[in-house]
Amino acid sequence: MSKGFNVDEWRETCKEISQSAVSKCGCIHDVYVGLYSCEIESHAGCFPEEHHEQAFDIAKQEGDYYTPKERAAEAQWNAEHGYCSHGLDQDCCPCGCGDLEEYR
Ligand SMILES: [Zn+2]
Repeated sequence: MSKGFNVDEWRETCKEISQSAVSKCGCIHDVYVGLYSCEIESHAGCFPEEHHEQAFDIAKQEGDYYTPKERAAEAQWNAEHGYCSHGLDQDCCPCGCGDLEEYR
């Protein structure tokens, strides 16, 4: 049996996932979105199919949930406009994206 879907419980779970993503993302929005969205998807995958839409709607209300398609579009936009995968100017990225180029 798959786990049942409880709206209130799920809302709480979304809040917890969001807080944990905030604490790990280093204040970079795109990193937060990636962490939050992946975690949401792995949790929502346990719910019966018919609840997925509602689960993702709630995830969007409680945090910045982007679908895999939206995240891919975002990454594409970043690449086309010279931003790194974190959505930042490469020279300003704390992950050192701009630096990497020089050592290649
Ligand atoms: Zn970066």
